[in-house]
Amino acid sequence: SPVIVWLRQDLRLRDQPALRAACESGAPVIPVYVLDDDTPGRHAMGGASRWWLHHSLDALAKDLAAKGSRLILRRGRSAPALAALAEETGADTVYAIDHAEPWWRAAQAEVARALSLDLHPGNYLAPFGSVRTGGGTPFKIYTPFWRALQQQMPPHRPALAPRHVPAPAHWPQSETLFDWKLLPTRPDWAGGMRREWTPGEEGAQERLEDFADRAARYEQQRNLPSVEGTSMLSPHLHFGEISPAQVWHAVAGKGGTVGTFLGEIGWRDYAANVILQFPDYGTCNARKDFDKLTWRGGKAAEADLKAWQQGRTGYPIVDAGMRQLWATGWMHNRVRMIAASFLIKHLLIDWRRGEEWFWDTLVDADYASNAVNWQWTAGTGVDSNMFVRIMAPLGQSDKFDAAGYIREWVPELAQLSDTEIHDPTFPVKGYPERLIDHRAARERALAAYASLKS
Ligand code: FAD
Repeated sequence: SPVIVWLRQDLRLRDQPALRAACESGAPVIPVYVLDDDTPGRHAMGGASRWWLHHSLDALAKDLAAKGSRLILRRGRSAPALAALAEETGADTVYAIDHAEPWWRAAQAEVARALSLDLHPGNYLAPFGSVRTGGGTPFKIYTPFWRALQQQMPPHRPALAPRHVPAPAHWPQSETLFDWKLLPTRPDWAGGMRREWTPGEEGAQERLEDFADRAARYEQQRNLPSVEGTSMLSPHLHFGEISPAQVWHAVAGKGGTVGTFLGEIGWRDYAANVILQFPDYGTCNARKDFDKLTWRGGKAAEADLKAWQQGRTGYPIVDAGMRQLWATGWMHNRVRMIAASFLIKHLLIDWRRGEEWFWDTLVDADYASNAVNWQWTAGTGVDSNMFVRIMAPLGQSDKFDAAGYIREWVPELAQLSDTEIHDPTFPVKGYPERLIDHRAARERALAAYASLKS
């Protein structure tokens, strides 16, 4: 009887241990993707991710066809959908890569009760739970986590794609991608994404090759939003179109500051390690005292939230970032930190509203990385207490030389000089006044924090 390969955020053929193990079992292989909007609840895939998913599945289906196979598409809750497919095809074994999201772990447990589930590590540098303190407990803080993780490095040599994926005598029925309506129609907001990205395994390989030559200069350039200094691999890594082991082996040995880059790949493992310990990290403050903080609400706060989402706060670096996000589904990391800090501290809006917006608009929206970075910025996380460290958006913009970046994304300011563009003198034609003055915002945030402590 055939075996099933259950694909989720691991949409690749190369270095795909679940697919490989299925092929090596000697049985015919049925690769399936189940679109499951039920099990994740509030974290069902957002709009930008759905756009990406459509193209990634399209690419994967073609790659599988070239190996003599097919991609079967089903919709519904994962476990019953797989059980139904197993029943139709006579399969009783499901091969899959292990995932950290709480809903995937719940689905995995459910699948394992009905069928034989063969789980493999492969989407992170190290298998879940393998990086531990001397006392055998999981880490809460990044730095010691990374030190311990490095003891296990380098990761395995990436495996090639299977030469051939054995096909069953009869293919089960498949839904069609277009019926899933994952793409926007009216309005079609995906033009900027089509220009920026090539979802799928080939696109991931191209990004990696392009970055490998720049990897040695990573540390010097990564904080400069006007320069393409980072890898832009995040959506490819999130959807598993490339494995972190492939990334590691392509850049390790490039010299320069490539170690700093590998440390960022380590952040991704760290974030997964955090949500494995705290599955509700995306919705609950890790520091419970923050539950008492009075975030702003009501009409004025909603209007401010909207201005932030639309890139109309009157702070050029924040607005540039938010517009880049809307247009391309991605934002430079330094600017993500500035924009997130601005929402939380300057506007005193609950970080979860920001997490939610990023979840919907990022092509790399990742439950673990998003939650860990939002809680880190808010100071509500297990790893930091930084609420009182309030980033000055105007100073950050100047320090990281964001003039070119602002010119690209906020054309209303394009005429201003390199010095004035960070901190324009108002009024500026077509550009909104600041939502709030930096000093006043700072005092309001510190007062809210002080009332929490008293
Ligand atoms: P590079 O600098 O080239 O780094 C290489 C890879 O390392 C990235 O592709 C990513 O997989 C990983 N990485 C880098 N920085 C981080 C980090 N701080 N935390 C976890 N992994 C990291 N990243 C996501 O992948 N998904 C998210 O939903 C997400 N939400 C974020 C929200 C906020 C508020 C902030 C401040 C950061 C968030 N990040 C998120 C982290 C980071 O901004 C992106 O991973 C990075 O900008 C992606 O660009 P890159 O691929 O060029 O990164």
